[in-house]
Amino acid sequence: MVMTENIDHNGVLFERAKRVIPGGVNSPVRAFRAVGGTPRFIRRAQGAYLWDAGGRRYTDYIGSWGPMILGHGHPAVVQAVQQAALEGFSFGAPTEREVELAEEILRLMPSMDMVRLVSSGTEAAMSAVRLARGATGRSKLIKFEGCYHGHADALLVKAGSGLATFGHATSAGVPPEVVQHTLVLEYNNVEQLEQAFALHGNDLACLMMEPIAGNMNFVRASVDFVKRCRELCSQYGALLVFDEVMTGFRVALGGAQSVYARQLPGFEPDMTVMGKVIGGGMPLAAFGAKRKVMELLAPLGAVYQAGTLSGNPVATACGLATLREIGKPGFFEALSHKTRSLVSGLSQAAREAGVAFCGDSEGGMFGFFLLEKLPQNYATVMRTDGARFNTLFHGLLERGVYIAPALYEAGFVSAAHTDADIAATVAAAREAFALLSRP
Ligand SMILES: *Cc1c(COP(=O)(O)O)cnc(C)c1O
Repeated sequence: MVMTENIDHNGVLFERAKRVIPGGVNSPVRAFRAVGGTPRFIRRAQGAYLWDAGGRRYTDYIGSWGPMILGHGHPAVVQAVQQAALEGFSFGAPTEREVELAEEILRLMPSMDMVRLVSSGTEAAMSAVRLARGATGRSKLIKFEGCYHGHADALLVKAGSGLATFGHATSAGVPPEVVQHTLVLEYNNVEQLEQAFALHGNDLACLMMEPIAGNMNFVRASVDFVKRCRELCSQYGALLVFDEVMTGFRVALGGAQSVYARQLPGFEPDMTVMGKVIGGGMPLAAFGAKRKVMELLAPLGAVYQAGTLSGNPVATACGLATLREIGKPGFFEALSHKTRSLVSGLSQAAREAGVAFCGDSEGGMFGFFLLEKLPQNYATVMRTDGARFNTLFHGLLERGVYIAPALYEAGFVSAAHTDADIAATVAAAREAFALLSRP
């Protein structure tokens, strides 16, 4: 296709999209509402790069919001998907591949005995809540401000991610009686946590948390906080649910739970919610727990849950091929090293420009803030100067670096990013930071 320099291909597509799709997008944060400007319509991707409708190349630090841990178009994954597509898209009947994927997930995350495969993180988190309520016979649940668990009604309470852009504490269309059982607490606040358990502990079905929050940029739960969450859940008989949709198979092969278990020997959540990387870019998610909890699900038990496309053969082929690649020796060491070098390079570039900056990473997930020190909760994250972030965002985008178009999103490095890509990104950032330090 011939590209004409003076046509704004992205702009033309965005206008066309807005006529037929609300806001022109199928998921709100893609619309660039927080940062302004025109979203890039992606034509294709390969390795660490995306190409937009105008033919411009970007180094991709979103990776489809996490799944593309191998980079785009990894040959082993493409081959597995092509083969699966030839064998049939969907049967509505069990397949061996679902069993293989379930076995692989359980091997990597031994806190679970069984998993159920679904099609999105939203569905997995929603089902996990239902199962926790069914297992305990209780209704209440705890979540934390700034943690996102998909858009099921009961969880759409002061969530971060797309909602924060529009400044809503909650969504319209969610009846108050549906969220009346959801307690929203401050992340990393042990005192508040203890108070909530003292008041409601005996009525709590579960506590759901992102162990490393990736929907308020990148905020770790402190080890002490995770420890108290674990202790209080055990003490009161509530289920500790780790939402590892983002962190699972991304911060470490065994997920964030393995990172915390290094410092809290024997640590395990009661239930784990997964998505993103386990589908390798296809719609696939899962939730799992110990056998006695999972056996409460239909058809064995009374907690209903189902899905026409659950365990889809093409999606499971994609996920399985992805998990097999990331399980190879040295994979996470190399990915972590690259991610750390990106964050330290950005940090140095910011320091040289005299721009307040701090960053953190774990495995292939990172975050940075235009703040002096790492925030511990949502309110502190939101103290970032949005206008400065937007200048940085567009400064990077113009220089071919594609980061999340909102300051409360995490970033992702893939195995396809080379040291040269990281160095080029740091060079672009040096120029972009200079835009911020100008008086
Ligand atoms: C992305 C995400 C979800 C929702 O997953 P979808 O597949 O977008 O529905 C849930 N929890 C966390 C932590 C996520 O990052």
